[in-house]
Amino acid sequence: MSGQDIRSLYQEELIQVVREMGGRDFQGKQLFRWLHQKQVGSYQEMTDLPKAVRSQLEEGYPLTSLYPVDTQVSALDGTRKFLFALADGQMVESVWMHYRHGDSVCISSQAGCRMGCRFCASTIGGLIRGLSAGEMLEQVYAVGRAMGKPVSHVVVMGTGEPLDNYDQILRFIRILSHEQGMHMSQRNMTVSTCGIVPRIYDLAREKLQITLALSLHGATDAKRQKLMPIAKEYHLDAVMKACDHYFKSTGRRMTYEYSMVSGMNDTGQDAAELGRLLRGKNCHLNLIPVNPVKGRSFRQSDKKVVARFKNKLEKYGINVTIRREMGRDIDGACGQLRRRHMEEPPVAE
Ligand code: SAH
Repeated sequence: MSGQDIRSLYQEELIQVVREMGGRDFQGKQLFRWLHQKQVGSYQEMTDLPKAVRSQLEEGYPLTSLYPVDTQVSALDGTRKFLFALADGQMVESVWMHYRHGDSVCISSQAGCRMGCRFCASTIGGLIRGLSAGEMLEQVYAVGRAMGKPVSHVVVMGTGEPLDNYDQILRFIRILSHEQGMHMSQRNMTVSTCGIVPRIYDLAREKLQITLALSLHGATDAKRQKLMPIAKEYHLDAVMKACDHYFKSTGRRMTYEYSMVSGMNDTGQDAAELGRLLRGKNCHLNLIPVNPVKGRSFRQSDKKVVARFKNKLEKYGINVTIRREMGRDIDGACGQLRRRHMEEPPVAE
């Protein structure tokens, strides 16, 4: 296991690592707590671990931290966007949002993305690499540190397709909810996917309590395929069947996301098709007025059009909300701050 990101290892694996270094099993548990509960930044601070173990850890598992490159604070709603550099210089974004029910952080699961959704900034440079579970956890921890209090909710809706980084996202969820780590309730976690059908079935088998959000963006295959290349691989009936299965086997109500693009998927007919698709399902529909991205020509649907769309869906008995646009003044949408920094690299010190 040497050379791996130590924060990505399960407690049982840490016990094994420490055992191989001549330590005792309870010291493996202590190591887990130092990393995920106390969230210290160096092995030297882990004062109840034997020196010999600490120096072997330093040698075999260098402990890196995210480096904050940029922060933007929204004057409108206090939303805060963080740009972090990873150990290899790649950059990822995380967003902190304040809601009535608690604070939430939106994290990235990959550096770049290979799904190619037409309106999304994260996909423009393609996929660079998946993040390790430790790098995802560090986003949650680092934002909590910066805000002076731990965050209570996590949404995996930043750059990347989480189910395209399946093993690491599972580790992330399990470690974040571990009772000797941050112990965040899985019910406070949402993972958003563009709809990789086999992985949705895999996830259903894990019997987690997270909310799964499915990016729909169109109620027919033709509409979806215009916006999302992945829709050519997995057709809508297979995606919806997988989501129904997820609900049946976990008891967790699905969330459907629908980014509204003017003239593309926001007509009365679109609303009717969406209504028929979701009618009778125990689900929640989130309408997201598309966030314009530099270099892409999509326009946001009019406020009136969005309201009309919502009303029509409610007539089908669907539970609909319009997503509040947080941080509109700070490159709010997925991947935009990272994109800007890639275009204008920060001046080297
Ligand atoms: N890959 C995952 C998570 C990505 S982002 C997924 O596809 O679900 C979370 C949501 O934001 C997705 O529904 C995504 O389609 C949407 N999104 C991305 N860019 C957007 C933009 N510019 N405006 C509105 N929604 C956007």
